[in-house]
Amino acid sequence: MPEICPKCGLPKEICVCDILDKETNRRIKVYLEKKKFNKYMTVVTGLTGDELDKTAKELKRVLACGGTSKNGIIELQGAHKNNVKKALLGLGYPEESIDVS
Ligand SMILES: [Zn+2]
Repeated sequence: MPEICPKCGLPKEICVCDILDKETNRRIKVYLEKKKFNKYMTVVTGLTGDELDKTAKELKRVLACGGTSKNGIIELQGAHKNNVKKALLGLGYPEESIDVS
């Protein structure tokens, strides 16, 4: 008898729960940072590499704002917390991996 995954009910060798868990365990954090002159930045952390750049580009496009991405951090000009979450969901990031604080 092959070992059955308790989560999805498929045999362990074809189940992808471990991979999905890894994806889900990635935490994307979204928070506001107050800058000089009462201006806000929306900061997104938890993404790396290609994903960081692509996501930054897409967020800037969707939110029509300026921003930068480097060292695993996306900074967007303006206060966009909730819209960033919506945009991330639209890009396919699972809701449970996004922490808005
Ligand atoms: Zn499974």
